[in-house]
Amino acid sequence: MTRVAIIGGGACGLWCANALKRNKPSIDVVIFDRQPIVGKKIAMSGNSRGNLTNLNVSSAGYNHPDFVASIINNISAKSIVDLFEIRGIRVSSDEQGRVYPISESAQAVVDMFRCDNDLRGVRTINHQEVSDIKINGHKFIVGQDAFDYVVIATGTNAGLGPKVPVKTYPTINGQDEFLVTERFPSLAAIGVKDDIKMLLGLRVKADMALSIGDKTYQSAGELQIIDKALSGIAMFVLSSYYARAKVNGSVGQPQVSVDLMPQLNHMQLREYLSNYVDINDLKPQSLEGLLAPKLSAWIYKRYLEIYSKRNIDTLSNFIKKVTFLVDTAYIPNNYQVISGGIDISEVEPSSLMSKKYPNLFIGGEVLDVDGLCGGYNLHFAFASGMVIADSIIKKENI
Ligand SMILES: Cc1cc2nc3c(=O)[nH]c(=O)nc-3n(C[C@H](O)[C@H](O)[C@H](O)COP(=O)(O)OP(=O)(O)OC[C@H]3O[C@@H](n4cnc5c(N)ncnc54)[C@H](O)[C@@H]3O)c2cc1C
Repeated sequence: MTRVAIIGGGACGLWCANALKRNKPSIDVVIFDRQPIVGKKIAMSGNSRGNLTNLNVSSAGYNHPDFVASIINNISAKSIVDLFEIRGIRVSSDEQGRVYPISESAQAVVDMFRCDNDLRGVRTINHQEVSDIKINGHKFIVGQDAFDYVVIATGTNAGLGPKVPVKTYPTINGQDEFLVTERFPSLAAIGVKDDIKMLLGLRVKADMALSIGDKTYQSAGELQIIDKALSGIAMFVLSSYYARAKVNGSVGQPQVSVDLMPQLNHMQLREYLSNYVDINDLKPQSLEGLLAPKLSAWIYKRYLEIYSKRNIDTLSNFIKKVTFLVDTAYIPNNYQVISGGIDISEVEPSSLMSKKYPNLFIGGEVLDVDGLCGGYNLHFAFASGMVIADSIIKKENI
């Protein structure tokens, strides 16, 4: 009997196991997971509502578009949706294409995988960290058992602490065999050097841009101020680009600029300020007709610090473009994804099989693949699990 060991019962490992058993029931599948339960991160996703994929998903949303295209071009959001529906999970999407189970419960998705995998005879061994895989002839030894195929789907420690990204995947015959890129937290807050203590807890609609060298990335949505950092979903989007630049080397001195009044264009804002604000007698409360009190007070303070020549134009320009210097030493506490990991050159793009070790496959977030916010990361994890299952079944059918 063909035996497959899957190391890691996350989105990639659970889907791979499920697809193997559904399409080739004779294969013996064992999942090893170091956690007491599988699917912990799926259950946390989308604020526990389970943002499973995105109808607008495209390879351009990932750090390695060409590589990801070879995986997701054949596995669209629609096919993920169909495959969930076949498994009894009904879904719906929001205006940004984000797909959620209609139960709005990510745990329901984990339960579906657990029950379906149990029913089909997948064996799951929890509390079992695999730190090394031994290769013995054509067999892989995982724990005490021999397997014909091994799948490394160990993900990352994002969302599970510790604060700094750490290695999760096993060695091969005691050696760290894979080329690995730098790792940096993504989908996270961006730390800034500026004094933003006064703004702690603020939530405001804003347009934002991140400049790194000669590149500028845009985003819009709610800006949240947390301790020493800018946060919120729109900032998470920018943090993907920041993390990728960190992984690729020096980022210089990045800046975030924020339009704090996207509802009014320059002309409208100047007109408002001319009518309602006495520029020669500015007070912390002067802008409260437009902005929350703590934001009005902070703008007042910063504007007076920076501008010696005060007039409606400079005040209006300042509100439309407040610039923050990114603190490149800042490591966010909570991050949803890690950019970087096992280099994509280690695997065949179409099958995800290791180039060094035939019949060893690597999928999901443990690879140096990260996507934008909104379902991209689960999409890749699920899709890579499917591709690996297909690759194993194809090899078995030859
Ligand atoms: C709070 C939060 C919210 C998120 N929200 C979304 C969202 O809404 N949409 C989205 O697309 N993505 C989201 N993500 C990201 C997404 O969840 C991950 O990218 C995806 O789950 C990765 O799947 P994976 O299978 O590759 O890895 P993981 O989910 O990390 O699973 C890896 C598994 O391997 C196990 N493991 C690790 N090392 C070993 C070892 N040596 N031996 C045995 N077992 C091991 C772990 O215990 C874990 O169960 C979110 C992440 C977090 C943290």
